[in-house]
Amino acid sequence: MPPDNSDAFNKIKVKLYREIYGGNKDFLLPGRASKSFNAMRAATRRRPFENHHASNSLLSYWQAAIRQKDRAGAENVFVRRYNICKYMHLRMNPEKTTDDNKNRRGRKTETAAGCYFHIPFCARKCAYCQFLSFTFDEKTETRYANAVLMELRLFAERLSSAPPVDSIYFGGGTPGLIPAEHIAGIINECRRIFHVTADCEITLETNPGAVSLEKAADYRAAGVNRVSLGAQSFSDAELRAVGRIHSAAQIMESLAALAGAGFDNINLDLMLGLPFQNAESWRATLRAAAGCPVRHISVYMLELDERSPLAVQTAGGKPFLPGEDLVADLYLETINYLVSRGLYQYEISNFARTGSSSRHNMKYWRRIPVYGFGLGSHSFDGRFRYANVSEIENYCRRVESGRSPVDRSSEVAEKQALEETFFLGLRLAAGVDLREVADDFKDPAAGFLAGREKALEDFREKGLIDINSSRLRLTEKGMLLSNEVLELFI
Ligand code: SF4
Repeated sequence: MPPDNSDAFNKIKVKLYREIYGGNKDFLLPGRASKSFNAMRAATRRRPFENHHASNSLLSYWQAAIRQKDRAGAENVFVRRYNICKYMHLRMNPEKTTDDNKNRRGRKTETAAGCYFHIPFCARKCAYCQFLSFTFDEKTETRYANAVLMELRLFAERLSSAPPVDSIYFGGGTPGLIPAEHIAGIINECRRIFHVTADCEITLETNPGAVSLEKAADYRAAGVNRVSLGAQSFSDAELRAVGRIHSAAQIMESLAALAGAGFDNINLDLMLGLPFQNAESWRATLRAAAGCPVRHISVYMLELDERSPLAVQTAGGKPFLPGEDLVADLYLETINYLVSRGLYQYEISNFARTGSSSRHNMKYWRRIPVYGFGLGSHSFDGRFRYANVSEIENYCRRVESGRSPVDRSSEVAEKQALEETFFLGLRLAAGVDLREVADDFKDPAAGFLAGREKALEDFREKGLIDINSSRLRLTEKGMLLSNEVLELFI
């Protein structure tokens, strides 16, 4: 068994981080730099995986960079050297190796991109809605569906090769209101443009009241294999209070129609904090939802846009909204209840049976590219974030005349990417893998977290986060008060 030098390695790593990222100018002195480099090399050199030739070349690059006072060059060598050491360190620690390889495999399988299509049409606007959606007529809907196809083709013209795609998501709005032939047309165009994997998850959002057995079968035939159903509540009084078009009975009818059409991968959206909701009615909703044949449940807390009709009514003193403390207690109760029913919390608002987390959502939280199409859609291609125009006439005119509908675009700088990694990744129950961050970024997690140590310690003392050398995550209480913690990273 080769010697385990992990302690020595860790000490050197911390020291070098401080020297390079803590702004200590001493590291620019050739003697000091070589000493540090050699110390790091010594910590691992007796390992059978050491490639002395590569190591010596790195040392000469390092020394040349130091001679030229080239901080960026020296950092680059350091990062490469650190990755070699880290790799060997993990090879020497079977437990960590297994864990790390799991993450690597996970990330590898997740490198396929996703596509998002925004379908902004709804039968009626709900009283709390803050999404880009509106009622529609058939002519507008047909024109829009054709415009989305045109946007896809415009996008394809800029591609040099077909990126792999393992998730296609139709969100809205209520995509389940438009004819299946439009959905099929978009999916087929995706298959022509991208390398759509055989197991691609193709999700369609819809609402109870918009589902029939015939329509469900048509969507299934079009290629949809997952449905997200906006149930929100199993209380008719609560549904009425927010202007939903369906009743609790229709949720069950929709599920039966979806099952009849062969759908076995279904999500139910629920809302906590609805008018007239109390502990008893929420528990009844949860029991009903957990008893349904679904693999995934999302629980969102009602957030009121001040311009929404419900916010205006609430400002006038009615309808009755449950208090914040009650909502907080019910949220914590929800986590325990759903876990007891085999639905594990993998994100602040999302629960799934094993292996059924939403691919589309995971891409967003793990910063994996998602190409957005349609009105107001947002995209991330791994380097740039960009958003389409959000006015339908403008959107249609642009793509119909062969122009891009992109309204604004910005390159994600290294610092922003790090912020996003923590801001988005901390929403996941698994939290942020600090070793992955060190692998992925030039400015490793240790440097990024350096100025935030005190705040993190405060959060840890308050029981909001759990932190160790390799992982940072929110506790259950932290998930409830996530905004307080996540603010630290923006
Ligand atoms: S169904 Fe969804 S998108 Fe449509 S109005 Fe209601 S909340 Fe908004």
